[in-house]
Amino acid sequence: MARIDELRAGLDQVHARIAAAARNAGRDPAAVHLVVVTKFFPESDVRLLADLGVTDVGENRHQEAAAKALACADLGLRWHFIGSLQSNKAAAVAAYADVVASVDRAKLLGGLSRGALERGRDLDVLVQVSLDEAGATHRGGVAPDQALDLADKVAASPGLQLRGVMAVAPLGADPAAAFARLAVTAAQVRQHHPAADQVSAGMSHDLEEAISAGATHVRIGSAILGNRPTIK
Ligand SMILES: *Cc1c(COP(=O)(O)O)cnc(C)c1O
Repeated sequence: MARIDELRAGLDQVHARIAAAARNAGRDPAAVHLVVVTKFFPESDVRLLADLGVTDVGENRHQEAAAKALACADLGLRWHFIGSLQSNKAAAVAAYADVVASVDRAKLLGGLSRGALERGRDLDVLVQVSLDEAGATHRGGVAPDQALDLADKVAASPGLQLRGVMAVAPLGADPAAAFARLAVTAAQVRQHHPAADQVSAGMSHDLEEAISAGATHVRIGSAILGNRPTIK
């Protein structure tokens, strides 16, 4: 099968899963946005995805993301940075990302803010919330009881727009329970910051649970692009 046909089939399946999950939850499928995670896949795939109507792509490693965003600058895509971020790279990420969905500590804000101001446009930010058991933060994120404090600091940072929260379900745990906890934190943040109404949750294997718990954005890689060559 030609690559574009593989990608089209993957996209069709994922759109159908999103629509079914939204209907089951009594939600409007149009309220769930798809971010296609292109990490480990080449620029050529990003171009085919854009041809197929994809508007939002996600990357989790700075060097790979920077190179791809530059090479694909003509496509007008929105670039979501979804990976763990070093504070000394934050300004550089803000130079090409439209969204940084993985802000998990205040130490990142100075660099992100500076990068956004240098670029001359606001950067959308999601606070990444840990859904791991107390004390463990294997999959990144601020502890839920610290999320509002971090959100306040994002909202107070020049050039940064607080848009909501993001999370990755813990390995080996019930994703529905984890996403239900995320929904509580999301509501707390939204109560203080009404414009921060985005909830980015759900990946290839748990998008249904995420949508049922209120996700507004799902981040899907392998269900569209196939298995990644290596997982880091
Ligand atoms: C890789 C990645 C995804 C996509 O994962 P799939 O299981 O391939 O859909 C989503 N979110 C984050 C933070 C990721 O790193």
